[in-house]
Amino acid sequence: MLQKKKMKENDVGKVAIYAGSFDPITYGHIDIVERALEIFDRVIVAIAHNAEKRALFSVDERLKMLRKIFEHTPRVMVDSFKGLLVDYVAKTNAKVILRGLRATSDFEYEFHMASMNRSLNTHLDTLFMMTNKDYFFVSSRTIKEVASLGGAVEGLVPDLVVRRLKEKFKLPVTKKKQIGWDD
Ligand code: ADP
Repeated sequence: MLQKKKMKENDVGKVAIYAGSFDPITYGHIDIVERALEIFDRVIVAIAHNAEKRALFSVDERLKMLRKIFEHTPRVMVDSFKGLLVDYVAKTNAKVILRGLRATSDFEYEFHMASMNRSLNTHLDTLFMMTNKDYFFVSSRTIKEVASLGGAVEGLVPDLVVRRLKEKFKLPVTKKKQIGWDD
């Protein structure tokens, strides 16, 4: 029994599912994935189709961005799913749901979701990773807000995401303007 279980695990190794909206993906998310790869053999980054949230990028656009960003990271697989996360996880070899925690404000929602997922599937565990101090203030929502007003989000999201945000908000891809007394 134990040997059979081991063999099954050895096929793919330890897999974690990192699910979220990723609308758009930020370096906060990427940092969690990179650190998770130190613990897990594979990480599945799964975009949730969330009808309740009005997304800026379609699921297809997000899939394309994420696949490009992780194209040189073979241990990361990018996917999307509809419906309950626990049902999606059941179709994979993962036993762990990975989540990032930024602040105490994230905790209550995450605690409820982890408890609910645990009650739906008692074999599943949720693993929380603390945010990197450089990205604790970074959320997809604030990135969208700042970018929509023309603010610089370089260094907080990959260059590809910067470009896609500028296209979405129809902002020119220009160099920083120096404001002097003569302006
Ligand atoms: P949701 O749509 O459920 O809020 P997101 O797509 O924004 O989720 O993010 C997925 C996961 O990544 C969540 O667990 C969220 O807390 C985490 N996360 C988002 N931004 C950061 C960050 N800057 N640092 C660490 N974790 C983060």
